Amino acid sequence: MEKLRYERPVIKKLNTGFLSKFGTRTEYVPVTHIDDNAVEDLVKEFGSPLFVLSESRIRENFQRANRAFKTRYPRVQFAWSYKTNYLNAICNVFHSEGSWAEVVSGFEYNKALHNGVPGDKIIFNGPDKTDEDLISAIKNNSLIHIDHLDELYRLIELSEEVKKKPRVSIRINMDTGVYPMWDRFGFNYENGQAWDALMKIVTSQKMELTGLHSHIGTFMLTKDAYGIAAMKLATLALKIKKELKKNIMYIDLGGGFASTNTLHGSYYQGKDISPSFDDYAEAISTQILKSGISPEELPLLILETGRALIDDAGYLIGSVLANKRLSDGRRATIMDFGVNILFTSFWYAHKISPAQDFSHYTEDTVLYGPLCMNIDVIRESCTLPPLKKGDQVVVHTVGAYNMTQWMQFIAMRPNVVLIDTKGKSHLIREKESLEYLMQKEKMPEHLKGFKL
Ligand SMILES: *Cc1c(COP(=O)(O)O)cnc(C)c1O
Repeated sequence: MEKLRYERPVIKKLNTGFLSKFGTRTEYVPVTHIDDNAVEDLVKEFGSPLFVLSESRIRENFQRANRAFKTRYPRVQFAWSYKTNYLNAICNVFHSEGSWAEVVSGFEYNKALHNGVPGDKIIFNGPDKTDEDLISAIKNNSLIHIDHLDELYRLIELSEEVKKKPRVSIRINMDTGVYPMWDRFGFNYENGQAWDALMKIVTSQKMELTGLHSHIGTFMLTKDAYGIAAMKLATLALKIKKELKKNIMYIDLGGGFASTNTLHGSYYQGKDISPSFDDYAEAISTQILKSGISPEELPLLILETGRALIDDAGYLIGSVLANKRLSDGRRATIMDFGVNILFTSFWYAHKISPAQDFSHYTEDTVLYGPLCMNIDVIRESCTLPPLKKGDQVVVHTVGAYNMTQWMQFIAMRPNVVLIDTKGKSHLIREKESLEYLMQKEKMPEHLKGFKL
């Protein structure tokens, strides 16, 4: 039998107060495997820290979301939000499930083309599209979502240069009862800006109006806000038909569905309060179906869901570097991953599980990352069993945004592995090296070489 581990006794403060109806936060079950791959083996082969993505979970999520909408509305199309996770292998999992691409920059646009997405199945969003981006999007018949009037006027000019009609929609912001309102993107619904932009598009005769778009916010915990957005876009579609004599091809309700993560300060755990795909689908489809649009003219419903499709398919495996006692007596554990690669720890209290068996003893622990920076805190307070140097943990629900917002700061980015539906692991992004880091640097002649 293995010798029991000695832990220095401590006096533990008991927190009293009400439990939520879901009980205490339980993070005490060891997670030794991810999709049948032993965490220990993954670390041996690919190192630590390590991002692991489950292809099975991504496909299950996608199919669940697709079913939720397709059973309630006749014509549905998902477009994968590249900025949520644009590793090519991940994009291709979504494309192989039938997703189009939704991009918000020139390089994301080119990544989608590179992955083989046909131009007319790429939605180009965002406030920053260069002339070069717009010209390429016009030539490829992509769906350009106009963000502001300057872009609208520029497209009129470019359509003349390219001698081709851009296919455009406008992004619309609106009051959906959720505040603060996101009104910095697109044209406002209530004050008539949106209608003004639509009139300009139609009367210019230089563009083909294809649809209406909104993306009302992110991590939206109320499904009803989507119902309101859907109703407002459908009302606008009817008005376009009546007054401008145009049928629009689609209504795009953007992304923003909540994942099962837990926001900092939230009383309940995310998995207990985040609406399901069925909830969102019900709210949206009901409003479009009862809007008065005739059944044979119902527009295609596009969804740009990001985080809700991939967050819980991503894991971060990390190892303990050291333990220490802070001056106030709290236990601190230093991990080999920090906010540099776990950017979403600024917003979420991620669930963190030890990856090996442990004693029943637990203690409130501060989890620090390895950076030489005071802000590098993964969890201010996390109930964990004592972990020793070299032990591993699995951080849950990290598939969204971390592999795009990660920083090359102090430490370089680690390996990313995809476990396929048969349980086989594939390296999909190699960890960075010093050589990679310096590839783009240039040394002025006069600074080459020195004597110390
Ligand atoms: C970021 C973004 C999405 C995806 O948002 P999620 O919150 O990840 O679902 C979709 N559409 C647009 C326009 C976006 O900017």
